[in-house]
Amino acid sequence: MADALGMRVRFVKGVGDAREKQLARMGVRTVEDLLFFFPRKYEDWSSPVPLVDLKAGETVCVRGTVSFPVSVYRTPGGTLIARTMLTDGPGLLRLVFFNNKYIKEQLKEGETYCFYGKVTRDEDGNMFVMASPAFVPGDQPPGMRAVYPATASLKSRQIGRAVENALAQYGESVPETLPAALIEKYRLLPIGEALKKIHLPENEADIRAARRRLIYEELLILQLGLCLRGDARRQESGCRIETDRTAAFASRLPFALTGAQKRAIAECAADMASGRCMRRLLQGDVGSGKTAVAAALMDTVVGNGYQCALMAPTEVLANQHYETLSRFFGEGVRVALLTGSTPAAARKKLLASLETGETDVLIGTHAVITERVRFHRLALAVTDEQHRFGVRQRASLSEKGEAPHVLVMSATPIPRTLSMIVYGDLDISVLDEKPAGRQPVETYAVTTDYRPRIRRFLRKQIEAGRQAYVVCPLVEEGETDVSENLLSAQQCFDELAAGELKGLPIGLLHGRMKPAEKDRVMRAFSAGDVKLLVCTTVIEVGVDVPNAAVIVVENAERFGLSQLHQLRGRVGRGSGKSICVLVSDAGNDAAVGRLSVMRETDDGFKIAEADLALRGPGDFFGNRQSGLPSMKLADLVTDARILYAAREDAGAILAADPALSEPEHAALRKKTEALFRQYAD
Ligand code: ADP
Ligand code: MG
Repeated sequence: MADALGMRVRFVKGVGDAREKQLARMGVRTVEDLLFFFPRKYEDWSSPVPLVDLKAGETVCVRGTVSFPVSVYRTPGGTLIARTMLTDGPGLLRLVFFNNKYIKEQLKEGETYCFYGKVTRDEDGNMFVMASPAFVPGDQPPGMRAVYPATASLKSRQIGRAVENALAQYGESVPETLPAALIEKYRLLPIGEALKKIHLPENEADIRAARRRLIYEELLILQLGLCLRGDARRQESGCRIETDRTAAFASRLPFALTGAQKRAIAECAADMASGRCMRRLLQGDVGSGKTAVAAALMDTVVGNGYQCALMAPTEVLANQHYETLSRFFGEGVRVALLTGSTPAAARKKLLASLETGETDVLIGTHAVITERVRFHRLALAVTDEQHRFGVRQRASLSEKGEAPHVLVMSATPIPRTLSMIVYGDLDISVLDEKPAGRQPVETYAVTTDYRPRIRRFLRKQIEAGRQAYVVCPLVEEGETDVSENLLSAQQCFDELAAGELKGLPIGLLHGRMKPAEKDRVMRAFSAGDVKLLVCTTVIEVGVDVPNAAVIVVENAERFGLSQLHQLRGRVGRGSGKSICVLVSDAGNDAAVGRLSVMRETDDGFKIAEADLALRGPGDFFGNRQSGLPSMKLADLVTDARILYAAREDAGAILAADPALSEPEHAALRKKTEALFRQYAD
């Protein structure tokens, strides 16, 4: 009867044409879908509250006797209102129903019922009222009741009844997904029991036990899927990069590589020489020198006669990489830049030269992954600031060649627990060391009263030969209707140019400027011709001007923690002392909390974890970013411990049975494959 689960949901008693269509709209097509369509929450009917203990605003179960016949009347507006009173001896509660003509037959004076609903006060404030409560006859409350995600046409109770019927008909034939040893190890409920208890629990303990089992299963399947996918990718043969030229490259650099950089380069070079496809994540805090690692690898790949591509999330960053890498690479390496603003003629020439192999390295923005870009022999695809791209974009870059090696670089604004999942299919190299001589950035949080002082300070710094950023939340005034006092980049620029910094070379950079204009300003700043850059968060990611030693962030309360960390990462890139000033008048706790985290640490991992704690997982871990299948029950953050266990177990299962071909793993394999399909599209 295992196939029963794959049958259309209309084979469930009580599900007809209409209901089948309504369910399909919620993604429920088969009996199995229905059994695994989990409640959103539960109504606790298990312990009725005495009426004298009611409090307005609470949603509770009550029990009592209807003490008046139901009175029904129609308002002038046409609404049908039914009212009666409930008593449990000492207490009284008014019950009101709207437009329900059956109530008069359903509620009888002198009979006992249990009700569930929200308690409010009547207009005069002297009486508690429950409006449109759910109810059941008798004095035995039904325990816990599942509430399903409902729609206008399909009510939670209707879903509940369909689920109940499905459980009665097919609950016994659900095959066990988990190997017996694991059920034993964690004392998990068998699948049939877990399904019954998640839908029809008697108490909180039932729900907990059912959730624990189902969350574990969900995470185990996720981990199996990720491991299998990673393995499959790694098994793919990649072109062999035989000659390792990274040492020669390193000797040409103006600095000595850090131990961490050397280690990462060696790990990648070994991957690329193995004949297998490299799938590697390079994690390193801002300023740890990821670009040099990528450069060394690209140089080696080109030296072996292949092509490379590097994709950056912004045009400013792509331009910068183009400049830096052109300098890093030796004479013979032909580097080209492709962005949204590459003129058509140049673009055409460039595309042709990629196809014939005359261009060795392509650096660019999203433009790199558009259809028309074809390579002659692409062997290495690098994505910088990976967290800015979705999984899908990362995938399309690697589809540009015959399974090119893939390196993704990220400043890890994602805590370890989460990166393990998002990047579960990647090997990881970590740059856990900053280049020698770096000093931590001194960070201050001040109010706007300090602006004049900050500006005098900026002037002194610039006169001493340093450069600075002033970051503003807006481009122009009046951009938002928020009545907050936000400083716009334009306004700030005007003020500075006419006031304290008069006569000094100041630049303005924001997202609304034309790309060529942005490029011009950024170049002038890099070259040191512009000393102060007033900008928006266009500089947030990747921008590298080592001589910049001061960053002032205006309206710092407007920025998230990871964003502030990235912004601060624009300074502290040289050997001198750097300063970050966060300007904010905000008094709200969240903002104050963020600013104090910034003052306390400059460790990207710690900041990411604080960010997660302050914001909660929903915000932090947008699905768009992760490209992961959505979990039904599991919460990737709060269920981290189960996740670790599942990851270990997945590894052990695959070590013993790499293709999940043992009969005991049949159900797991099926579910894992289904996940793959979901992941693939
Ligand atoms: P990120 O990891 O944030 O991308 P970058 O690659 O932009 O960091 O490097 C930050 C700065 O440090 C750059 O100016 C780069 O040239 C410099 N740098 C990189 N590696 C070293 C090193 N080993 N010693 C000194 N400076 C380095
Ligand atoms: Mg970078």
